[in-house]
Amino acid sequence: WSKETIAVVTGSNRGIGFEIARQLAAHGLTVVLTSRDECVGQEATRVLREGGLDVAFHQLDVLDPSSIQLFVDWIRQTYEGIHVLVNNAGVNFNVGSDNSVESAHMVVATNYYGTKNMIKAMIPLMRPSAAGARIVNVSSRLGKLGGRRNRIEDLNLRRKLGDLDTLTEELIDRTVATFLQQVDDGTWTSGGWPQTFTDYSVSKLAVNAYTRLMAKILSDRPEGEKIYVNCYCPGWVKTAMTGWAGNISVEDGADTGVWLALLPDQAVTGKFFAERREVSF
Ligand code: NDP
Repeated sequence: WSKETIAVVTGSNRGIGFEIARQLAAHGLTVVLTSRDECVGQEATRVLREGGLDVAFHQLDVLDPSSIQLFVDWIRQTYEGIHVLVNNAGVNFNVGSDNSVESAHMVVATNYYGTKNMIKAMIPLMRPSAAGARIVNVSSRLGKLGGRRNRIEDLNLRRKLGDLDTLTEELIDRTVATFLQQVDDGTWTSGGWPQTFTDYSVSKLAVNAYTRLMAKILSDRPEGEKIYVNCYCPGWVKTAMTGWAGNISVEDGADTGVWLALLPDQAVTGKFFAERREVSF
């Protein structure tokens, strides 16, 4: 890997994102560390640069269209394009299986729509490197469609979301919008969602489904313009999100994401991974 390979990591001022940025830069890539807070992001970048790594900084709030546009313009002017996009920015306010009205909207907006905003904004700037351009979405096993605790009771919906032939962006958007409406109305448990299915689970279910869908859509691109998109679960990681209560270090939590970003096998796309192994959606 060389300095000419440009990687962007969202929400990389701390936690798993910071560690993904560090590991990618340690592999020799130029990494663009991004943060919604300018000062915090500059400080995180300074730490990595002091370690001798090639890291640049730009402000980026994945929910703010003007921030995304400024970022896109800056990337185009500074690097012309990028080779790796890691959608890591995320939030989680759940304690147990509550689905509060405010947090449900914020969580779905950040984790799903933030990821989607970035993919749509960056695809025109993605330049295949020797190993192809890569998108890695940091997701969670909590968003698994067929999880034992998480099985969606609406069989028809589960089947449609799980089948690439019936999966559409409109279906994913409608599914999360229906869930949010049911949370607002207080009817989500009777609406076909298991008691354990939190807004966070729904947001990651949507990220997983969107990963599969984008991989299918992008597979039509001609040779030389290929973009591969996968998602992964980092495990339960010791970060602010878990109150540092996880059982995995950030180094291990970042590992599969970095591996996917650098995977030499170009054909891998539309898959879900954990601990460097494919797992089912
Ligand atoms: P942290 O809370 O430590 O980091 C989350 C990062 O996302 C922060 O940098 C945060 O910025 C950023 N962020 C939040 N909202 C936005 C936004 N609108 N625009 C840009 N950046 C934003 O959590 P983790 O490192 O643990 O989580 C990273 C990813 O890993 C998330 O997607 C999470 O869902 C996923 N994950 C984590 C697990 C865990 O056990 N920790 C398990 C499974 C998945 P700021 O500092 O400004 O808040």
